[in-house]
Amino acid sequence: MSRVWNFSAGPAALPQAVLERAQRELLDWNGSGASVMEQSHRGKRFIAMAAQAEADLRGLLAIPETYAVLFLQGGATQHFAQIPMNLAGTGDSADYVVSGHWSAKAAGEAAPYVRVNVAASSAADDYLQLPPREQWQLDPRAAYVHYTPNETIHGVEFHDVPEVGEVPLVADMSSNILSGPLDVGRFGLIYAGAQKNIGPSGLVVMIVRRDLLQRATRPMARIFSYAAQAAADSMLNTPNTWGWYLAGLTFQWLKEQGGLERIAAANRAKAGLLYEAIDGSGGFYRNPVAPPSRSRMNVPFTLHDGALDAAFLQESEAAGLLALKGHKALGGMRASLYNAVPLEAVQALVAFMRDFAARHG
Ligand SMILES: *Cc1c(COP(=O)(O)O)cnc(C)c1O
Repeated sequence: MSRVWNFSAGPAALPQAVLERAQRELLDWNGSGASVMEQSHRGKRFIAMAAQAEADLRGLLAIPETYAVLFLQGGATQHFAQIPMNLAGTGDSADYVVSGHWSAKAAGEAAPYVRVNVAASSAADDYLQLPPREQWQLDPRAAYVHYTPNETIHGVEFHDVPEVGEVPLVADMSSNILSGPLDVGRFGLIYAGAQKNIGPSGLVVMIVRRDLLQRATRPMARIFSYAAQAAADSMLNTPNTWGWYLAGLTFQWLKEQGGLERIAAANRAKAGLLYEAIDGSGGFYRNPVAPPSRSRMNVPFTLHDGALDAAFLQESEAAGLLALKGHKALGGMRASLYNAVPLEAVQALVAFMRDFAARHG
């Protein structure tokens, strides 16, 4: 069995070099005679690894010292609720920009903890384009503005950071963090579930402006408090040690690739190739998203005849192309092109799509 080209939306492909290194180090990590999973997070080896992972992430994204970096658990979904607990006081409202499945979910999960103001929504457009910035009804007194820069299911992505004035901007970057350079200083808080572009599931990476950590006023258990986690170096309790380690290996791999400018160029090339194949298929394949809103990470597409879906999936899998089935909310297909998916994978996909269309067109 050889490795396939993996287009999974998440948990998603990891860089092969990262997996191979983890395999090499599995039984004897760092000269310890045990795996990284089998030792204390309070030990000096783990602490050094954790600090290196944070330093590498800080280097990749040029994260200013005024921001804390946290390695948390709970998935992005838990933080949909924890963010308002930490950033909003009782009675506060927060602005939510709803541009697809995940931002809608974030707004829903926040509702028990903050007055949610849907400042903009593209639901009426079936999320086929981003809500135009000039139509956002932002409240200058909002505790924060939440948005989802890349909608993993709907395949829409913001290609610029929206201007929101003085109100802290909160971004769920689960599916596009580290896909290119970022001006972290534009954000109040960035968070990402790891299983798309960083590592295994069960880890959340958070970058938060330190002054915002002082905002929480409501009583809450310490385990929910970002300030308490920051004060404890994300080790208030046992962290996801394996996830943290793999995230660190991915950060090193990204550095070895030449950093995020290079990664961004590779991602543009990969997405460009696939969108070109879809748009140039004479209607055999279709991506319905308005071109300026198209995601570089997640490309949903349909076949002109849904009766061909089963054959497409079966034949693509036989050709070594894994996980192209679309999300059940949209049907059709979806190819996720995260950092760990190489150009060769997209070339193989596009060649398969052309061949399939020629045989079934
Ligand atoms: C996958 C995903 C989530 C959910 O992540 P969990 O870790 O399963 O909670 C949230 N937001 C976005 C943008 C995602 O892609």
